[in-house]
Amino acid sequence: MAKSFLILTIFLTSFLIVSCSTTDKTITSLPYDPPGATITTDKEISPQYYRTISFTGTGVFASNEFEGARLNDLYQVNDSTYTAVILPENAPINNSPWYSFKIWANKKQAINLNLTYKDGTHRYKPKISYDGVNWQQYDTIYVMVDTTNNMATLKLNLSEDTLWISAQELVTSKTYKEWLDALSQFDFVDYTIAGKSSLGKPIYKMTIKENENNNYLFIIGRNHPPEVTGYFGLKNFVEAIAEESELASEFRKKITTVVIPFVNPDGVDKGHWRHNINGVDLNRDWIQFNQSEPRVVKNEVEKILSNNKSNIILFIDFHSTIKDIFYTFSMESLMKEDLSEERKEKRTYGYNFISVWLQNVQERLPDYQVNIIDSLSKSTSPTSDRWIMREFDVPGFTYEVGDKTNRELIKKVAQTAAEEFMRRSPLLISP
Ligand SMILES: [Zn+2]
Repeated sequence: MAKSFLILTIFLTSFLIVSCSTTDKTITSLPYDPPGATITTDKEISPQYYRTISFTGTGVFASNEFEGARLNDLYQVNDSTYTAVILPENAPINNSPWYSFKIWANKKQAINLNLTYKDGTHRYKPKISYDGVNWQQYDTIYVMVDTTNNMATLKLNLSEDTLWISAQELVTSKTYKEWLDALSQFDFVDYTIAGKSSLGKPIYKMTIKENENNNYLFIIGRNHPPEVTGYFGLKNFVEAIAEESELASEFRKKITTVVIPFVNPDGVDKGHWRHNINGVDLNRDWIQFNQSEPRVVKNEVEKILSNNKSNIILFIDFHSTIKDIFYTFSMESLMKEDLSEERKEKRTYGYNFISVWLQNVQERLPDYQVNIIDSLSKSTSPTSDRWIMREFDVPGFTYEVGDKTNRELIKKVAQTAAEEFMRRSPLLISP
């Protein structure tokens, strides 16, 4: 088994090198990528079967019939114990095992519910809700994690009230639409459909500006479905730009903010662990652009830059991981290529700006560690932040929010980062 896996890995690696040399584009995966992550042509996925499962003997019901759900199976072990089976859309895959389902009973009863996984291990602390909108973390005293058997057991009191259980708060197409509708109440906020996903869902583009201008801040998010805390980071950052303050208003007069907050609607609404509907990691497709979703972003960026008076001053891609991290690039990796002096200068200026900006954020948040990592990806990595720098010399970075970061702290950090960015932004505007 291990041997054939190794042979497959060697085969895929050599395939990749061969295929890249023919297009003259080297693709370097990230250290934590599973084999084949940088191959972005369509892959087969296992669709989940949507249904309400009922146990007539005990009167227990469970359902995955909603946007963002993931519950592949549920079976009864004894009178009061049930096992939920959580599967990825395809494998190998990063360990981000998303689950989300509803459970209830026609008479009150206490049960044990096992969460079990294939191709992944328990990662997300369960969140619960009674309406699918307002969520709280389930008290850890009712959750037992058994790493030996790769299982988490939840002690639950079921009743006729539907209980929602989810890896993170449920933030799907519906949530984004509501958020966009709410923000576009402001005169200076508009949104349109920039393009469509593989399944034909809208990929929205929000624009925030008070005057016509040629300077752009470009923000994207949710390449990866379970990364809900990245959504909270993006939401709070963008809301700070839309705030009714003098700082924000001055910023909006000089800089246009373009936000594509929801790059992977198919993956999110299907309850995927990582990929889009074609089984592909979208943040590994920014060299090949085989998938329609990154192409929508690319088109919008190229549309702005086709006007040679226009300038994207910064590009931010919001994600989530185990802790808060700001991924920037090392100066060394930025200067490696045979660049003109002008391009070198532009890159140096952009990254010095980011570095001082994040220092300012740190000064304003002395009790918080602004964690900067500048060496993870290579200039040939197929991520969005690398693409924008490689092709356009636009400073880009990945804003990672921890899975477990307190939601109030996410807000505080994102608001502070936005305020400090707005304060420093005149330094990025060409005269
Ligand atoms: Zn991500």
